[in-house]
Formats: sequence, structure tokens, C-alpha cells
Amino acid sequence: DTRSGGSFPHFSGLEPLRITPEMNLVMVGERSNITGSPKFARLIREGDLEAALQIARQQVDNGANLIDINMDEGLIDSEAMMVRFLNLVASEPDICKVPVMIDSSKWEVIEAGLKCIQGKGIVNSISMKEGEEVFREHARKIRRYGAGMVVMAFDEKGQADTTERRISICTRAYRILVDELEIDPSNIIFDPNCFPIGTGMEEHRINATSFFEATKVIRETLPGVLVSGGISNVSFSFRGNNRVREAIHAAFLYHGMEAGLNMAIVNAGMLEVYDEVPKELMELVEDVVLNRRDDATERLIDHAEAIKAEGGGKKETETQEWRNGTVEERLKHALVKGIVDHIDEDTEEARQKLGRPLKVIEGPLMAGMDVVGDLFGSGKMFLPQVVKSARVMKKAVAYLQPYLEAEKEGQATSAGKVLLATVKGDVHDIGKNIVGVVLACNNFGVKDLGVMVPWDTILAEAREWSADIIGLSGLITPSLDEMVHVAKEMQREGLELPLLLGGATTSKKHTAVKIAPEYDGLAMHVLDASRAVTVVQSILNDGGKTGRASRIENEAIRKEHNATLQAREFQPLEKARANAFPINWQGYEPPAPEFLGVRTVEVSVEELVPFIDWTPFFWTWELQGRYPGILKIPEAQSVYDDAQQMLQRIIDENLIQPRGVHAFFPANRVGDDVEVRLDDTTTHLHFLRQQMIKKDGTPNRSLADFIAPKDSGITDHIGAFAVTAGPSVVELANRYKADHDDYNAILIQALGDRLAEAFAEYLHKQARDAWGYGKDENLSSEEMIKEKYQGIRPAAGYPACPDHTEKQTIFQLLDATENTGIELTESMAMNPPGSVSGLYFAHTDSRYFPIGRIDREQVEDYAKRKGWTVEKTERWLAPNLGYNT
Ligand code: SAH
Repeated sequence: DTRSGGSFPHFSGLEPLRITPEMNLVMVGERSNITGSPKFARLIREGDLEAALQIARQQVDNGANLIDINMDEGLIDSEAMMVRFLNLVASEPDICKVPVMIDSSKWEVIEAGLKCIQGKGIVNSISMKEGEEVFREHARKIRRYGAGMVVMAFDEKGQADTTERRISICTRAYRILVDELEIDPSNIIFDPNCFPIGTGMEEHRINATSFFEATKVIRETLPGVLVSGGISNVSFSFRGNNRVREAIHAAFLYHGMEAGLNMAIVNAGMLEVYDEVPKELMELVEDVVLNRRDDATERLIDHAEAIKAEGGGKKETETQEWRNGTVEERLKHALVKGIVDHIDEDTEEARQKLGRPLKVIEGPLMAGMDVVGDLFGSGKMFLPQVVKSARVMKKAVAYLQPYLEAEKEGQATSAGKVLLATVKGDVHDIGKNIVGVVLACNNFGVKDLGVMVPWDTILAEAREWSADIIGLSGLITPSLDEMVHVAKEMQREGLELPLLLGGATTSKKHTAVKIAPEYDGLAMHVLDASRAVTVVQSILNDGGKTGRASRIENEAIRKEHNATLQAREFQPLEKARANAFPINWQGYEPPAPEFLGVRTVEVSVEELVPFIDWTPFFWTWELQGRYPGILKIPEAQSVYDDAQQMLQRIIDENLIQPRGVHAFFPANRVGDDVEVRLDDTTTHLHFLRQQMIKKDGTPNRSLADFIAPKDSGITDHIGAFAVTAGPSVVELANRYKADHDDYNAILIQALGDRLAEAFAEYLHKQARDAWGYGKDENLSSEEMIKEKYQGIRPAAGYPACPDHTEKQTIFQLLDATENTGIELTESMAMNPPGSVSGLYFAHTDSRYFPIGRIDREQVEDYAKRKGWTVEKTERWLAPNLGYNT
């Protein structure tokens, strides 16, 4: 009869573990848990699995009867790591002799683990958190794998924190598992929730006694099952004072076992024997554990302080002054300072204190964010800190989410809902991510649709979610056109929402001239993230003042634009060509590259570090100034330190694999084209020419001018390159985002961009060396970053060569997609975002310059050369057109 517990629970590794009534307590080693052991977490992150195995082994050596293994961390592929680690464990007989407890909050990880353990392990844990159906399904699967299961006292309404709820949830689970699914109760281990005691909170006083009472009833009324608990949690509020913690554990286990506790998840190497705890301390501890006096906690805290003063507390750093405040004060402090370390426990404490999860959000969390918003608004706080604060907020809200859902409370009331998207064809989103974070900090609801979002998705989501404002973002010039397209579709579908535009190439002028005329609703340009809040707040709250002002301004900008367009005069193309940049090619001997054709280049992140140009990194964070001087601003130093740490991690754990390719080809100028010869095929690069009327003999430049013309008889060369930090940047950023950590997500994206640019610099150096003239250039890294060398590397889409589609030719010459993995979107954005490509020019006179506006004559000429219609040409060259289409 299984119901009466006729069969003793038995589990196994290589050796069997039979849990008989004579056994005192089954100990499960807790240290191989990434969420509970910082040391184990570090080893896993650093990939030192050998040392991580050592931790598992020590626990068995210290007497653990089972080992708990948990790999739940946002940044690692938990599923893969669980499998990898379990397979390693399997080849260590002195570890895998004991059964494994597979610990994860993600079912996929549990199932992956179940597939690779030998013997009979235990799943930690399942619950009715997501309802009975999921619970049944998981239990059935575990049975099929032949494992035991820890069942948490957790239901649709949340974690049980009263004796009554502990008992009723476990009883309900038992009825389903045993009566309905006919699972052998000896495979069931109930965990009635160990919560902290001695926190100073009235309702926490019963946390231990309620656990004991529930344990007793469960063991008596639910035959055959075991009861377990994770005891480190009980002493949580005495962190930093191991002597007190160990005493609490000893008392808890002693009284727990009296009540029928069979199993405990513990640090096997740190168990104090009940009788060896000094009498005085044990009495104070038991007063708290057993809830024997009203002043029990105060007395224990006083005593704990005294112990610590004697040097018995260890880990002094953990107890910081601010931790002594009320939970409201602590939450505010954590938000303002961006400290995530204690956020889950503090949020939980606030939830219990305030009774409802929404009250936590609308109370202390919003109060904290208000302080952050005020400090930021008054310039006392900088963007990196705000993003760190937002991370704290997000983590707290994520913690409360299941409770919010359970209470069907939904979202807290927001100041307004902003829908964000990077438009179709564009992949850049650092700026938009920052805007999202800053808005969220100011209590706006933000929904971010990500990158490459087609207009129809944007419109549908805006409707479905009832957005109050749409914000579009894009980096490259073709995105401007896509934004116009979105505006037209909004007009056509009759949307009236304010439309905000932002990103590197967007401007007040483009918004006024190209977007506003297409859309009856408000269209407004937002210069940067710090402005976003003010703009959104005023649009939603000032009764239309901002809208009216913006319309008037847009109208004025349009008038002025049209006036200047009409006043603009151009050099006829022929005359401009005659005024090309003069180079005397007679007797010119072009440097000849060491190799011709395509070369892929491998480089480590470490080698790229000296080539990083840090100044633009700070611009990402809206910190204006130049590196290294900017480090005088403490906030700049702080975000720089974080970047250094992340960079070190990237290097140590090989998180980013840059890929690059470059090439040299024989080449000559033919008109404003450059003819590139590759084996027996000829390709043309197409360039534009400045057409403004020049005074005092300055030339009308074209990049073609820097290459020897065909009729000079000289064989000149041109180079091309494409580099990328690779797809892992986005993957890592997404993992951080999933972990509610936008700060690190933005940090790694910014670093990815820096590394791609550094790679371009590094590769350009190699190119100059291959070309010969780079070998005696003798530049410091600072001079190199300032491009103080001979030659240039113009990038398609930049001012000297604004046609983004030339990237297609460059990519084809380099076989770049095959060689680096970079792809071009329909708007000619390079994907992954951290990618750079361009051409190499060697001539000593070659310089960057802007093409500026061109007239219809050159557009028609260019169309012919490209084999395009005039209309298509106008579309791709839109920002350079000197006339209205
Ligand atoms: N060190 C900087 C490099 C990027 S900006 C960083 O790490 O961010 C400088 C690059 O932009 C040049 O190397 C060139 O590729 C491109 N560029 C700048 N001005 C240009 C122009 N007028 N025409 C074409 N490309 C240009």
C-alpha cells in the first residue's frame, strides 16, 4: 500500500539513498546553486567548471546526502549549462554517488536535467503557481522520468505564508498527485516555505512556528510524503553574522525535526550542532524561532551586535548602515543608488507589510522613482545612474508580477503609454532603449517593439495596446523615408496619436519638412533621451500647447527650407567635374599592396582594446566631453569602470568573437566612377560630386578624384573592408533585458559598437602596413584613433559617399556576408548592429568631406550610372536633393 507509506522513499545516485524513519535528517547540499552561492556563480560564469565541481564534491565530503544544482541566471544559457554540469558530475563517482536535486524555476531546464541524470533524482520544484493544469502536466512528466518531486506551497494566489494556507495548498496538491494521478507519495516532498524570521516585522514572527505546525499536520495527514525546507532563508536578516545564523539554523532544524521535517537544503559544511551553541545565544535564538517573547528580535539583534563587535560576525561588508532603515527607506535608497543586491527581499518585505503588491509599486517604489526623476530633471543625476535605478525598479516589479497577476491587479496606473519601435530596415536601438528606460522611470508605460518593425505592426500594436504616443527611432538615412511611410499610413488609417521621431539622422527639419505635411496628428522631433520625458509629459498634460507650438514651428521651418532650396544655385555637373580635386598623376607611383583580393582577419577582443575610441562611448550616455578628461565627472568614471569590468568579462569568457575581412583591388577612375578589377570581372563603384558654387578656387570634390584616372596609364588600387563585433552582442543584451537589466544591456551594446569601430581602426592599420606606407608611421594609439595617418576609410552612407546602396557592391567585392556574417537589410543597415564597412583610399591628399546638396542633372546622371530610375535615385539620395520632389 503506497498510500500508507509502505515503501520508504528512496532515491539514488550511483548508490541508493533510502530514507528510513531512523534517519535523522536528509541533508541536501545547497552550495552548487548559482542563485545562492556567489562563489559557485562566479566559477560558472567564468567557465571554471572544474572548480565548480570541487564545490559539489566538498558538499558530499561534508556529509550532504544529495546535492542541489541550480543554474538559473539571466546571463548564461541555463539549460545548456545544466546539461553540461550534470554530465561532468556523472563522471565524478565521489560526487554522483549521491542523488541529484535538479533545481530551476524554468521547466525546460528541469526537463533537460532530467534527461541526463543517472539513478533517481529529485526535481526542485513544481507548484500550482500557474494553476492545476501545468502542475499536473509537470508531475506526470516527472513520474515518466522516474524522479521524485519537491512541491512548493505555492498556488495561483502566491506563496503560502500562514499555517492554514501551507496546509491547504499541500493538501490540495496531495489530492491531485496521489488521489488523481496516483503518484506514489514516497516520491513527493512538500516544502511549506521557509521565510525569514527576526526581521523586525510583526507578521514575520510566526514564520518558523507556522512552518513547524504545517509540517506536523502534513506529516500526520498526508501519509507517505516527506517534508523539506531551504533553511538558509530563515536567518536571512542576520546576513554577515554567521555565528547567529548557524545558531538559528541549528534551532530551526532541531524543532523542525521534532515536528516531522525529514529533509533540509543546507550548507553542509556550516552546520552547527544544537548543543554546542552557547546557552545564552541559543535561548535568545529560540525566543525568536519559537516566537516566545515580544521583544525577542530586539534582544537577539542586540546580542548579535555584541558578537559582531567581538569579531565573531565575519563578512562585515554586508552590513551597511542603510540596511537598518525601514523597508520604505531601503527601497528608496536602493532605487536612488541603483543597488539591486537586496531588491527581492526588500520588495517581498514591503509586499507583506503593505498587504498588496500594487501598493508597493504605487507607494515606496514610485516614491523612489520620483526622487530619481527629480534629480535627473534638475541635472543632479546622470543617465547611467538613471538606467541603473530603472534596473532596480524593473527587478522589483518583476518580483511582484506573479502577485499582481494573482490578484488580477494588472499594471499600476501610468502617466501615459508610449509605444516605441525602430523602423523597418534599421537595426539600431541603443538610443531608443535609453529613451524607454528614462520614460519608464517617470512612470510612463512603455512598450518597445524592438528593431526592424514594419509599419503595419506599429499601427496594429498602437491600437491594440491603446498607446497614447508613438515613438519611432532609426539611425541611418533610409530610415527617414520609412518614418515618412509610417506617418502616411497613420494618416490613411485615421490615427491621431502624437508621433515622436528620434535617432541619429532624424532632425527637426526632416520632421517639419517631410513628416509633418503627411500627417494631421502631431509630429515632433525629440533631440535626445533626456528631452523625451519633458516632451512626452507636456504633450500629454498641457492641453495641446506643445502641439500648437510645434505646428507653428514646423510651418516656419518648412517655409525657410523652401526658401533656401529655391535660392540655392548649383554648378552645372560638367563645370563641377572640371573643378575636380587636382592631383598631378604624372610620375605618380601608387603604393602597391602586398596582396590582392580578399583576406579574412581574426582578432581577439583583447587585441582591439588599445584601438577603442572611448569618447563616443560617453556620448551614448549623454555625457558630453572627451576621454580621458571626462573621467573627472564621477558618473563618467563609474560607467567607464563598469565598461572595463564588462570588457574583462568579455575577454575572460570569450563572449564576443569579432569577424572581419578586407581586400585590395587594382582600380582606376572613370568619370565619377571607380572601376574595380577583380580577377577577370570589372565592377564599378559610383560616387557623387559636390555641386555648390565654390569661390576662391576650392575644388568640387568627389572621392573618385583620389584614384588615378584610367587614361593616366597608372594602375592604382582601392581597398574595402567589413568588420563586426558579431551576433553575440545582441544575444547578450537580450539576456540582460530578460533579466530586467537594461543598464548592462545598453552597456554591452555600447561596447559592441566600440569594438566594431576599434576593429575598423585595427584593420585599417593592417591595411596601411600591407600597402607599405603604414610601416613607418609610428603613431601612438591616441594619434591613431584621431586618424592622423595617411589615407582614409570612407563609409557608404556618410557625407562623402551618401548612397547607402554602395554597400552592396562593397559586400559583393568582399564576399562580406559569407566571410563575416554581416547582412544588409532592405534599408542597407548592417546587421548585427555593431558592424562597420567602407573603402580604403591611400593617396596622401585623400580627405573626408561632405557632398552636400546636388541638382536634378546629377541625379539623372547618377541614375544612368546605377541603372536606376530617377525616382529610385531620388529615394536613395533624398537627404542630398537640392530640390523638392
Ligand atoms: N573612432 C571613431 C570612428 C568613427 S567616425 C569611433 O570609434 O566611433 C569616423 C569614421 O566615419 C571614419 O573612419 C569614416 O569611416 C567615417 N567618415 C567620417 N566622415 C566621413 C565622410 N565625410 N565621408 C565618409 N565617411 C566618413
